[in-house]
Amino acid sequence: MDTVVSGTRPTGTLHLGNYFGAVRNYVRLQNEAAKTFYFIADYHSLTTHHQPDTLGDLVRETAATYIAAGLDPDKTCLYVQSDVPETAELYLLFNMVAYKGELEKVPTFKEKIRKHDTNVNAGLLTYPVLMAADILIHRANKVPVGKDQEQHLEMTRHFAQRFNRRFGEDYFPEPVAYNFGNALIKVPGLDGMGKMSKSDNPNSAILFSDEDKAIRKKIMKAKTDAGPTEPGMPLTEEVANLFGLMELVSAPEAVKSFKSSYNDASIRYGDLKKQLAEDMVAFVAPFRERIRELLADRESLDRILRRGGEQARESAQETVRHARAMAGIRYYSA
Ligand code: AMP
Repeated sequence: MDTVVSGTRPTGTLHLGNYFGAVRNYVRLQNEAAKTFYFIADYHSLTTHHQPDTLGDLVRETAATYIAAGLDPDKTCLYVQSDVPETAELYLLFNMVAYKGELEKVPTFKEKIRKHDTNVNAGLLTYPVLMAADILIHRANKVPVGKDQEQHLEMTRHFAQRFNRRFGEDYFPEPVAYNFGNALIKVPGLDGMGKMSKSDNPNSAILFSDEDKAIRKKIMKAKTDAGPTEPGMPLTEEVANLFGLMELVSAPEAVKSFKSSYNDASIRYGDLKKQLAEDMVAFVAPFRERIRELLADRESLDRILRRGGEQARESAQETVRHARAMAGIRYYSA
């Protein structure tokens, strides 16, 4: 029986990368796995974002996006990370089996210190440890995430293994990054390089809060190249990215037709972008409206999150009780 955990940082409105890389699979798994826990990773967001005045709104917006995407709070446990303080205790325990050297080598850490060089805090360094605690607090075995999280999952397995070995019991599972047997997904950005991301370059990401006009504008401004000059030329990264996005939201016939016009060097990127923009608008608009409706009923959202927090705590308390006992923290008779 599978237990599934995953989460998203409330650092801004969710984008297409979050959806196709992770949230779409959250929804599929809620109907297949025995237990699913999806959280809003507010502690994680504090490593790079200090926004006490808006954090609450972003937490709710993330919750609304989850629900708009199809998560059903009656089938799945939807909660805010900080409503389960047991996670912080497990994080502390796992910090004892995580080594400074291995944490410093993590590429996402190196990348983050490049971007946030005035705030290289210990939370950034130990991000993979908190992530391991998030997953193992429910002893999950499957974690639907995008490609950027693959290495963090490997570290989660190391920490689980080491904790089990150090304290002599095979208690924690070794979870895998999961995409139904397919390769993990990386949704590209519109700036021609890397992944779509909400913090790097806002124009590179299509957000679920974007109005139709903004979506069209971002896509029409997306980077391309000078165009193929002869038949059968390989795709540059910028153009491959546009085709990649088209494959997510456009009809297969449209993708096929533009690919074939690329191959015979007759393609006009303006036409491709117009098609992509219209298909993207058709995909995002209903989401955006649903998110707005959900946000308008704040009471219901809060009720869902509070209930989710209580359910998640029950599961977390059992794990922490056990982990403490494994570590020898059990001094008093009942
Ligand atoms: P984050 O926004 O970094 O908290 O990521 C939340 C989830 O979205 C994680 O599972 C990521 O792997 C996934 N994700 C974020 N950006 C992308 C992207 N561009 N392509 C695929 N998955 C992504």
